Amino acid sequence: MEAKTIEISPNVKIGDGNFCIIGGPCAIESQKQAFGIAKDIYKKIDIYRGGAYKPRTSPYSFQGLGKDGIDLLVGIKKKFNLPIITEIINPAHLDYYEHVDVIQVGSRNMQNFELLKELGTIRKPILLKRGFSNTLEELLLSAEYIVSGGNQNIILCERGIRTFEPATRNTLDLSAVPMLKIMAPFPIVVDPSHGTGDARLVEAMAKAATAAGADGIMIEVHNNPEKALCDKNQALTPVEFNDLIEKVNIIKKIL
Ligand code: PEP
Ligand code: MN
Repeated sequence: MEAKTIEISPNVKIGDGNFCIIGGPCAIESQKQAFGIAKDIYKKIDIYRGGAYKPRTSPYSFQGLGKDGIDLLVGIKKKFNLPIITEIINPAHLDYYEHVDVIQVGSRNMQNFELLKELGTIRKPILLKRGFSNTLEELLLSAEYIVSGGNQNIILCERGIRTFEPATRNTLDLSAVPMLKIMAPFPIVVDPSHGTGDARLVEAMAKAATAAGADGIMIEVHNNPEKALCDKNQALTPVEFNDLIEKVNIIKKIL
């Protein structure tokens, strides 16, 4: 299938040979945290990530800063001249995403069909994460909800699925990368942070994803992982992240 290239900003593209590195915290927690991480990693990334609306399993967990979090991300976009990605959980919030470059649909919302239909009405790139209990065919049918509404700018994301194995948070299905390339034209990003849930495993799986032909990787980074308000066990420090990206770049060169 002919691979699609998606334009994210005037100088960032993904797909068909254009590889994107997405990094940043799980959640935007404060101005100091979000700008501090950006300052430490901006040279190594193509897109800065950070959750403003967090779909948490427990209602008592940190839910994100909401619109204030998006405003902080827009500040980072301007200061570091980097495109930004953040998750949407409610179609009624769409207006808040005007300056967001890529809108993320999280695993828990992969089959939120009303949300997907709404995202079909705009033209911004959408990063659609695979639901942790969904097949590749179901992922592509969800993508089809957006495409059939008129928005062709889809990026797929493999972020691990639930299996019987409890040693890792999820089982990162890397065979999804070559399989999705056969099944669909969309670029594919791999998220080894949620895919493993364990900072010690992120580097190995990021390298493996790059070697498997992914069009990008998305990695969670925190300046103080122990104190992170969300997903602390899988966060890399900026130093670990920058070192990992050096290795990923070597793998890309070999390929
Ligand atoms: C995220 O990337 O912030 C996230 C919540 O991931 P997932 O939807 O894959 O759990
Ligand atoms: Mn997370």
